[in-house]
Amino acid sequence: MDDIMIVMKFGGTSVANFEAITRTIFIVGSKLDQKPVVVVSALSKITDLLYKIADSAASQDLAQTTELLGQLRERHVNLVKELLEQSPMIMEQALARVNEICNDLDKLAYAICAVGELSDRNKAILISNGELLSSTIICFTMNAKGIKTGFVDARRMMVTNDSYLKGEPIVDEIAARVPGIISEAYEGMNAVITQGFIASNMAGEQTVLGRGGSDYSASLIGMAIDAERIEIWTDVDGVRTADPRKVKNTKYLEKISFEEAAEMAHFGAKVLHPLTIEPAVKKNIPLYVLNSMNPSGKGTAILRNELIEDGVKSVSFKENIKVINIFSMKMINTSGFLRRVFEIFSENKVSVDLISTSEANISVTVDAGEKIDRLVEELSEFCDVIVDDDKAQVSVIGKNIVRLNGMLKKTFMPLKRCNVYMISQGASFVNISFVVDREELTEVVQDLHDHLFDNPEELETY
Ligand code: ADP
Ligand code: ASP
Ligand code: MG
Repeated sequence: MDDIMIVMKFGGTSVANFEAITRTIFIVGSKLDQKPVVVVSALSKITDLLYKIADSAASQDLAQTTELLGQLRERHVNLVKELLEQSPMIMEQALARVNEICNDLDKLAYAICAVGELSDRNKAILISNGELLSSTIICFTMNAKGIKTGFVDARRMMVTNDSYLKGEPIVDEIAARVPGIISEAYEGMNAVITQGFIASNMAGEQTVLGRGGSDYSASLIGMAIDAERIEIWTDVDGVRTADPRKVKNTKYLEKISFEEAAEMAHFGAKVLHPLTIEPAVKKNIPLYVLNSMNPSGKGTAILRNELIEDGVKSVSFKENIKVINIFSMKMINTSGFLRRVFEIFSENKVSVDLISTSEANISVTVDAGEKIDRLVEELSEFCDVIVDDDKAQVSVIGKNIVRLNGMLKKTFMPLKRCNVYMISQGASFVNISFVVDREELTEVVQDLHDHLFDNPEELETY
């Protein structure tokens, strides 16, 4: 596919309202010569609202379900009226389509409410509506503004396994479908728009990629069309040394490596979905994180490892994790013990983050949201298990930091007063992670960030 060159993904805040969508369309309009494939999320907070609707319907709260469905429809209908005020004919068409989507959603929500039961399959259908609505509205508005835009239903090309709420992409199938569908949609057009997050399985049933999955959609599409670049447009000036919502005085990073970005995202930096990097790496496609509220900014380039300098880049964190401590005297001299333990994690689909072992103990961290009751029960059949709740995980990330002289001292020096429960130094040379009490997190990350980024020159490679 020679002529399609870039993927531009706009997150919830970049399509939140009239002003944001107007800015976003202006940004897309300035890049039509690069043939953009635009990928959009739901309007900001709409996916949360859809989850609430799902819960409320499943618990058969009819009054609340009706109230929430009303809010959802009203927000989208008002937006259409604002955006398309100057184009009454297009406004009519857009309103008809938005109401059609909302009517289908109402029907589904009331059906769930009637039976009081919500399958993952129906939940996926329900929560997909945010992206369908936003992409529909933006597509009509782009056309009204003179940007001829083709609409692609992502469910035709993004194929996942049968895990309805956290579909795993079937990459070969996506790579086979996307180019044809996109180039067909591009015929006679200046741009193409599609949805992030939503997909379908091989049987054509709806699935989603999991929360924050639109970034992942964008990079899968970028991989499939061999895009020249993948742009992730959000509400911050690129990737920073820590989450600016939590940490003061964070610094902007001009460029980082694929590996650093993947580790940052995996270890908690919400700026990118953790799996976004993987498809881009496959085809060596640079990713850019850009601010739709400040489009002239340079943003952060995420590039191949060789183009990036060594050094500390970020402090990432997960605010709420559990530590599962597994004790067994049998671990000593018993081959196969670790295998048995991790088989149980795998059978229960609990994903493990950090691991540390001693002679008769294994400690692992898992996200607080993981369901671990059955896992703990099964482990308890042959080991003692203690679960520590209310912990947080902090990771210092940067290319080759594990080889920097004084790095461990510099990481742990600011933590004088707090307990450190687990320490794990990544085998990749890119990260050092540790666990602290949740209530200490804010202070720990601020102190650590100040300490690492105020005197970076003290570190030397050995
Ligand atoms: P979108 O809706 O565009 O996908 P997200 O809210 O998912 O946006 O991601 C952007 C947010 O990520 C920022 O507002 C910021 O608070 C957060 N964030 C976390 N870690 C970082 C980091 N290291 N650099 C920049 N932003 C970060
Ligand atoms: N709208 C989805 C969510 O809020 C996907 C995304 O925004 O990336 O999780
Ligand atoms: Mg996001």
